Amino acid sequence: MRKQRKAIALISGGLDSMLAAKTIMEQGVHVEGINFFTGFCVEGHTHAIREKDKAKPKRNNSLWVAEQLGMKLHIVDVIEEYKNVLINPKHGYGAHMNPCLDCKIFMVNKAKQWIVENEFDFIITGEVIGQRLMSQRKATMPIVAKESGADDLLLRPLCAKNLPATLPEREGWVDREKLHDITGRSRKPQMAMAEQFGFDDYAQPAGGCCFLTDKSYSAKLVDLWKSQGHKEYELDDVMLLKVGRHIRPQPNFKLIVAREEGEGRFLQGYKNEFISMNSLSHRGPLALIDGAPSAEDLYLAAQITARFGQGRDADLVNINVMTQDGAERTLQVKPLRDEDIPKEWYI
Ligand code: SF4
Repeated sequence: MRKQRKAIALISGGLDSMLAAKTIMEQGVHVEGINFFTGFCVEGHTHAIREKDKAKPKRNNSLWVAEQLGMKLHIVDVIEEYKNVLINPKHGYGAHMNPCLDCKIFMVNKAKQWIVENEFDFIITGEVIGQRLMSQRKATMPIVAKESGADDLLLRPLCAKNLPATLPEREGWVDREKLHDITGRSRKPQMAMAEQFGFDDYAQPAGGCCFLTDKSYSAKLVDLWKSQGHKEYELDDVMLLKVGRHIRPQPNFKLIVAREEGEGRFLQGYKNEFISMNSLSHRGPLALIDGAPSAEDLYLAAQITARFGQGRDADLVNINVMTQDGAERTLQVKPLRDEDIPKEWYI
């Protein structure tokens, strides 16, 4: 009897990795999924916080994909190791702060370690030549295979026919003829394939699988690094960049102002780590003050906080200021008008 081969599929939660895994499962290979949690994943987080996103599914798409495929999924926390990928990407960043090529090399390398430890035979990704991210150009495909150490144990079922045959194909573990030759940015072939497999409710991430492809998020990350003078970060730092309006009036401090109730509840959880402000005299948002503000800076921050509450047109607004140790005081301020808040202050 032929030995049943085993493959691990990198599952992002999007359609391509789902189709890649399904293509190989259809060939009788035992496939399990692996998903790496970097701290920047789009998965569900802001949907779970923001009221306006309430209608969107709060599911974790990688778990959902695994369920659809009837496949076991391994979710691996790589937050610490990923820092070096983001801080020092050998191949640089993409359009924003997304180090896609280094990220892909890192993840495939982790998958390679995993197959060695778990006695699996090869690795599958949903990469497609010519798709929008820089890691998916024809020239970069061999770089990912080589620098990850996976070499020809890395199979991309969606575009395999446009690439040299890998070990699983040469050894007959999978039938190359039943693999695909998708290229380019069009999503039509994937959508047709999804229909053929009967998948009609899959995630269509707009920019990529993580926040690092987002222009506004990337600007906040660069601002964070610049303000602290180094690129180190903790998970809370990068989580907070996903939430609220970020306003930096001075290099030494910024405000994070909740844009709605859901964000306010989320920011409440950080009140003992930051100076916080909220309006006493009118309804208004919670604001966290990050940095080392002077007394004068706090007054300015209170004026900005007042601007985002219902007292924005009032002559005076009472703002409660609470320090990290719970000490409170009230500042009576005149709210800043929109024209007094320069656009450059918004990160
Ligand atoms: S979009 Fe994010 S998770 Fe996906 S390859 Fe690029 S950096 Fe990595």
